Order: sequence, then C-alpha cells, then structure tokens
Amino acid sequence: MELEGRVALVTGASRGIGRAIAVELARAGAEVAVNYAASEEAAREVASQIEALGQRAYLVKFDVADSEAVLRGVREVEEALGRIDILVNNAGITRDGLLARMKEEDWERVLSVNLKGAFLVTRAVLPGMMKRRYGRIINVSSVVAFSGNPGQTNYAASKAGLVGFSRSLALEVARRGITVNVVAPGFIETDMTAALPEKAREALLSRVPMGRAGTPEEVAHAVVFLASDRASYITGTVLHVNGGLW
Ligand code: NAP
Repeated sequence: MELEGRVALVTGASRGIGRAIAVELARAGAEVAVNYAASEEAAREVASQIEALGQRAYLVKFDVADSEAVLRGVREVEEALGRIDILVNNAGITRDGLLARMKEEDWERVLSVNLKGAFLVTRAVLPGMMKRRYGRIINVSSVVAFSGNPGQTNYAASKAGLVGFSRSLALEVARRGITVNVVAPGFIETDMTAALPEKAREALLSRVPMGRAGTPEEVAHAVVFLASDRASYITGTVLHVNGGLW
C-alpha cells in the first residue's frame, strides 16, 4: 500500500469531504488522526471505519481557528501516533450573504476557520516535518476561488487566500522535502451543499459540464494522489476536481 507507515492529520474529518479523505488515506495504508470541532459521534464513526480497514485512528477535537487548542491538539496527535507526515487542511464553513448586507462577524468567522485555521494547523505541524525533511501538505480550496460566486465574497476570499498561502509556503519548504498543494473541488454532495435551496442547487448543477455533482470520494482520490510518492515532484500547484465546471 502506497501510504503504508505514514501518519496523516485531516482537519474537519467528521463529515463530508474530510471524512472521505480520512477513510481513503487509511485505505491507502496511512494511520489517521481525525479532527472535528463539534460532531463527536460522526467522528467516532469515521474512526471505526478506519479501524475496520486495519489502520490506527486517533480522534482529536479542536477548533482550527483557536491557536492554543490547535497547538494542544497537534501535540496530542504527535504523542499518540509518533509524528505527522501528511496534513490535510480541509475544515471549512460558509456564512453566505451579499456583500452589501454582510455582517462583519460572518466575514471574520469564515476567514478565521478557512484561512487562519490552515495557517495555525500548518504552523503547528511544520516543525516536525522540517526536522524529518519530509511532509505532504494539502489544502482544500474551492472552485469559487477561481470563478467567484455571488453571495460568497467571504468564502471565495478565504479559498483564494489558501492558494496564495500554499504557493508561498511551497517555496519556503521545497528544499526540506515538503510539498504543498491545493485541491479545488467543484460542486460536491455533502451537508454543505445539501443546505443550499433547491433552485440554487439546480442552477449550479446545470452549469457542470459533466451534468452531476461530484462525490466526496472523488475529491479524496486527488488528495491521496498528492499525498503519495507518485506526486513527489509536484508542489505549489492546484488540482481541480470539478467535472469541468472551471
Ligand atoms: P461539511 O460537510 O460542512 O463538513 C465540514 C467539516 O469541517 C466537518 O467535519 C466539521 O466538523 C468541520 N469543521 C467546521 N468548522 C470547523 C472548525 N472550526 N474546526 C475544525 N473542524 C471544523 O463540508 P464539506 O462540504 O465536506 O467541505 C469540506 C471542505 O471542502 C471545506 O473546506 C469546504 O469549503 C470545501 N469545499 C466543499 C465543496 C462542496 O461542494 N461541498 C466544494 C468546494 C470546497 P464538525 O461538524 O465537528 O464541526
């Protein structure tokens, strides 16, 4: 198995895309730390699924936007599983609304979780990777970082921010054997998109050239590839998983 002996931390792994990433990393042979913020029962199910695949799972609760909790959580994972070789910054939220009426707290919370969260978790994990001269960092952005989307200025800004963050970090750590890449999903069936009004879902789907939503597993396969040795010379790039949407 291509990720045999590797240890991964996936943020926001209790549901949706993060859950699929955690399970597919385990299927490829990795031990996985499953991070969540609130959905403890769902996170426990993910851990059971990983264990059923014969891999070690470790549950770790923290809000990615809380710097002290992040440091504690990352330390806990490193103690329990030995180290972190693969980091997937997947945790993300939306607080949609047109800009003219957007509340400052909706702007701040989305930027805090989606962008500052990736910064905080990466900063906590990086020293170990640098010491061992090995690491794979994969940040989950979105098609809207590239296409824009009315009602999502805060979300799109956070997801576009992740691209600049990743490109810059890739340059900082390239000589340390650490790669940093982005996966940018299109319209994927999860709780996040189930929350959209039916009309908005239909309008979005009608714009997808492949004529269907993607599955969380289809995003997870791209992440597993970037985490594997087959992607050893790929860094600072964006892999789009969107059925041709952009
Ligand atoms: P989802 O179904 O809403 O799941 C979000 C996950 O993030 C949950 O596991 C949640 O855990 C966790 N989370 C939320 N806030 C957190 C925080 N402060 N700290 C730690 N974990 C937190 O979302 P999804 O659709 O799977 O999206 C996953 C990622 O893909 C996000 O970054 C999203 O922006 C991105 N994305 C999604 C789509 C799509 O179409 N679905 C498209 C493009 C990009 P708790 O329940 O425990 O809070």
